[in-house]
Amino acid sequence: MNKTQIYFDNAATTKISDRVYEAILPYIKESYGNPSALYSLGREASAALRNARLLCSKALSCEQNEIFFTSGGTESDNWAIKAVAESMSGQGKKRIITTAFEHHAVLNTLKELAKKGFEIIYLPVYENGIVRIEDLEKAIIDTTALVTVMYVNNEIGTVQPVSEIGRLCRERNVIFHTDAVQAAPHIKIDVEKDNIDLLSISGHKLHAPKGAGLLYCRRGIELSSFIKGGKQERGLRAGTENIPAIVGLGEALTEISENREESNIKLAALSKKITCAAEKITGVHFNGDRTKRIPSILNFSFEDIEGESLVLQLDLKGIACSSGSACTSGNNEPSHALKSIGQSAELARGSLRISLSRYNTAGEAEYFAQVLTDIIKKLRAMRNS
Ligand SMILES: *Cc1c(COP(=O)(O)O)cnc(C)c1O
Repeated sequence: MNKTQIYFDNAATTKISDRVYEAILPYIKESYGNPSALYSLGREASAALRNARLLCSKALSCEQNEIFFTSGGTESDNWAIKAVAESMSGQGKKRIITTAFEHHAVLNTLKELAKKGFEIIYLPVYENGIVRIEDLEKAIIDTTALVTVMYVNNEIGTVQPVSEIGRLCRERNVIFHTDAVQAAPHIKIDVEKDNIDLLSISGHKLHAPKGAGLLYCRRGIELSSFIKGGKQERGLRAGTENIPAIVGLGEALTEISENREESNIKLAALSKKITCAAEKITGVHFNGDRTKRIPSILNFSFEDIEGESLVLQLDLKGIACSSGSACTSGNNEPSHALKSIGQSAELARGSLRISLSRYNTAGEAEYFAQVLTDIIKKLRAMRNS
């Protein structure tokens, strides 16, 4: 069915881990009850839901009633931003501060709010792909309703100074949301220590099934209902819960907490191997800060290369990577994230994102390095002939 043997696109989605698979199987087959039902089959499902909420709250160091299950990262981002905008605009607060390289789930939500009269401030992320606290400090004024800055950028892998942002927002009495979809697989998140008020996570980016995510919302922050209907998720997000996916999310976050350090050490070694090989190629640019990054996402731009052709050639060799993010491929626009770090459209079009998971091996990294070198040579020769 597919001939991908090497999967290097884990920032787009991930495979389900064996442990998660085992955990969700009963809820796909025998234990299919509706958690709102009173009889035992329903109670089994509601117990599974409670347990998943407990596991998620432990992973994030928060309380269980601060976790709201959603359909994924996109919904969590939409909900967080729209709910805060709605409640704060009543107080005359209409400024929302963000970055130029957020995921489209955030950017397009903000675009809609801009049409409704909100003032959106896009902080620069500079060549290293990291926001500066002094810029945020200047941008926060009395009418600021919300700061939404992603924890880790999904295209270049840089880590934002979330702790400092949280501290500043707390001092200035501004609500802080972070899209932690790419951070959650690699960074220990502590919503208390980092003063995070709202946070988005997606299951399928961390070896759980597609179709479940969560929104953390600090107690005391007003959260309006997002989907109207029944009483699920304390009446704020109606609809029968996706129990197998939610169980998977709880299990996946737990598995990650138990293996994070070991997995990050392995990923750092793999990414070093790949970086060394890629940087031997002439006309290559390493995108984003070299140290303030998660170990799993690498992004390079190659001069005189069309990123799409590179992805297709790698596919012929059984390697799955992406050029730009999955959301931007399929159109020829260079990635907004690479533009935001000051890259020319020409160079941004020659970009390649390699995103690893704990399932990748040193052998795969070596094979990839060899294939990449050969393909770049071949594509450049074709271009010049
Ligand atoms: C994938 C991703 C999302 C969207 O998550 P879905 O669960 O696919 O809706 C949001 N933000 C970031 C940073 C992502 O990488």
